[in-house]
Amino acid sequence: MLAVHLYGHPADMAQIQAICDRHRLILIEDCAQAHGASFEGRNVGSIGRAGAFSFYPTKNLGAIGDGGGITTNDDELADKIRWIRQYGWKRRYISDLEGVNSRLDELQAAILRVKLRTLGQNIDRRRRLAALYTDGLRGSSVSPPPCRPGSAHAYHLYVVRTQQRDAVMKALVDRHIPAALHYPAAVHQQPAYEHVRQASLPLPHTEALVREILSLPLHPYLPDAAIEHTLEALTAAVSASIA
Ligand SMILES: *Cc1c(COP(=O)(O)O)cnc(C)c1O
Repeated sequence: MLAVHLYGHPADMAQIQAICDRHRLILIEDCAQAHGASFEGRNVGSIGRAGAFSFYPTKNLGAIGDGGGITTNDDELADKIRWIRQYGWKRRYISDLEGVNSRLDELQAAILRVKLRTLGQNIDRRRRLAALYTDGLRGSSVSPPPCRPGSAHAYHLYVVRTQQRDAVMKALVDRHIPAALHYPAAVHQQPAYEHVRQASLPLPHTEALVREILSLPLHPYLPDAAIEHTLEALTAAVSASIA
């Protein structure tokens, strides 16, 4: 089972682990958006059998090109991952496993080590900006993203829900506020996964979310004033689209 800590909000690992235990499944975490998030005091990436992190440039910890990392507390699995990373070599030039070439470039690693120092600070800043948005949305018909008690959200993205999504998004973009969709289509709605659609049960909650979600601008270098500016534009757009 692959749990995705989407937008930086930890998935409910207690419930998901219980399902995995019941069905004897291995739990893997997708931490690509969740560097710095935690579930009931445990950092994401340390809960399942393994965690996968992306260092794609736009992530909370981003390199200047592609990169990624895997965390695990399982030594045997760690060895296997190291072998697979480099042609399945346990010994030089001898492939004992079918491997790939998926090494993290050393230049990227050096840059990531420097950026790692400010990751905590950057996430604090993301949390502060998210709190400004959430305060500003109080009493509005626009719903802020949920955060489960006991979880620490890393706010890779700040995704609200609104019934007037398309009109609101257009109004923001017209004012050069880069509101965006994460994502415009769910997995079972992707053309390449038509077979998933055929096989899957109806997914009414997922499909409703796809129509209502809207990502507001959020990164650690935004000034507080930018949040206020977006909130003003958002409030105006919502009242205009209801009127
Ligand atoms: C970015 C991302 C990935 C993919 O990461 P890559 O480094 O591009 O392979 C996977 N899952 C989630 C949730 C992501 O945001």
